[in-house]
Amino acid sequence: MYEPLTERSAIELAERLRLFPEDASLSCREIGDGNLNLVFHIVNTKDGHGIIIKQALPYAKVVGESWPLTLKRAIIESQALRTFASYVPEYVPKVYYSDESLSITVMEDLSHLQIARKGLIEGKTFPLLSEHIGEYVAKTLFYTSDFGMNQQQKKQLAQQFTNPELCKITEDLVFTDPFFDHDTNHFETELRQDVEKLWSDDVLKREVAKLKRTFLTKGDALVHGDLHTGSIFASETETKVIDPEFAFYGPFGFDLGQFFANLLLNALSRNEQDRLPLFSHVEKTWEVFARTFSELWETKSEEVYAKADGFLEDVLRETFTEAIGFAGCEIIRRTIGLAHVADLDTIEPFQRRLDAKRHALRLGRELIVHRSTMKTMNEIKRFFEKTS
Ligand code: ADP
Ligand code: MG
Ligand code: MG
Ligand code: MG
Repeated sequence: MYEPLTERSAIELAERLRLFPEDASLSCREIGDGNLNLVFHIVNTKDGHGIIIKQALPYAKVVGESWPLTLKRAIIESQALRTFASYVPEYVPKVYYSDESLSITVMEDLSHLQIARKGLIEGKTFPLLSEHIGEYVAKTLFYTSDFGMNQQQKKQLAQQFTNPELCKITEDLVFTDPFFDHDTNHFETELRQDVEKLWSDDVLKREVAKLKRTFLTKGDALVHGDLHTGSIFASETETKVIDPEFAFYGPFGFDLGQFFANLLLNALSRNEQDRLPLFSHVEKTWEVFARTFSELWETKSEEVYAKADGFLEDVLRETFTEAIGFAGCEIIRRTIGLAHVADLDTIEPFQRRLDAKRHALRLGRELIVHRSTMKTMNEIKRFFEKTS
């Protein structure tokens, strides 16, 4: 039977599951900083060894019990972690146990790493972040797509990962509400004019409509669905992607777009001279993604058209364009929508914060509207400067 765990009952569960030695002395803390779930960190104080128990709540924690949310996302999360682990074990936490009725995933403790968003805000650069994420995205997308797996099995896998309720959150919060005067939005009163300009921008809305349609209809591969920098644990040498509860069969460009956007949101919070590592991360992620995906395509694809002249280039081109457009939507919604990012919200003084947010809105718009004419990823820097 489902029941939310407490720090006490989480310890009892860990003992029942024999996840620690008999003589362990366990302590537990709820450390969830997310909006939707409880996260228990259980440590054996004798040797410092820990585990994580993540449990879905039947409602969104931010909003409270007034926003019910399916518990099925816990099983989506543990299954997605296991699926991704079969392609990129080095980039995801190990799953030790999961239980559908309790809506829990018991997984590897990654406390020796830092949430990338936090580190980036502190000015860290995580030199291997883009290489690792480029490879993570290329492999998870390729191997779960019609090019990397049996096409009948892919349809079955896609069924297992229909995730309508969490997709609806993205449809509303990323692609819809920020572009209308909706009550989930929130932003500084000083931005009112800028936001109203956005709401009446018909050129922009036409393009966002197309991107939303792509999100709604295009089932290329099993995407993570929430690949912002708060879903990534990192250090100088390691990278681990957590929190795939939004996973579903979606467009190739979606994860890349969200990741790029969150790198750019961090760049927006920095002084000019400290932005370069973020642009390099965007460029490098694309480069590694395209190279890895192409190698897999050329060596592993069983699709008869894989060798058709120019087809791979077309797929990469389409993925590039989608990713830029999705990045634009993510930048805008993180600036004026329901869920903000600390990168922008902690900028001091207030006037600098407003400037950065206005810049974010212009950048987001330009990326969306001009995504099809952008040719290479190093144009990102030029777009960023042009809109400053
Ligand atoms: P939510 O879906 O609620 O956003 P997350 O999976 O992002 O939950 O986890 C919320 C927080 O819990 C993370 O930001 C991190 O601080 C902590 N956390 C989650 N998973 C782990 C883990 N495997 N190891 C250590 N800490 C973790
Ligand atoms: Mg999270
Ligand atoms: Mg979080
Ligand atoms: Mg989450």
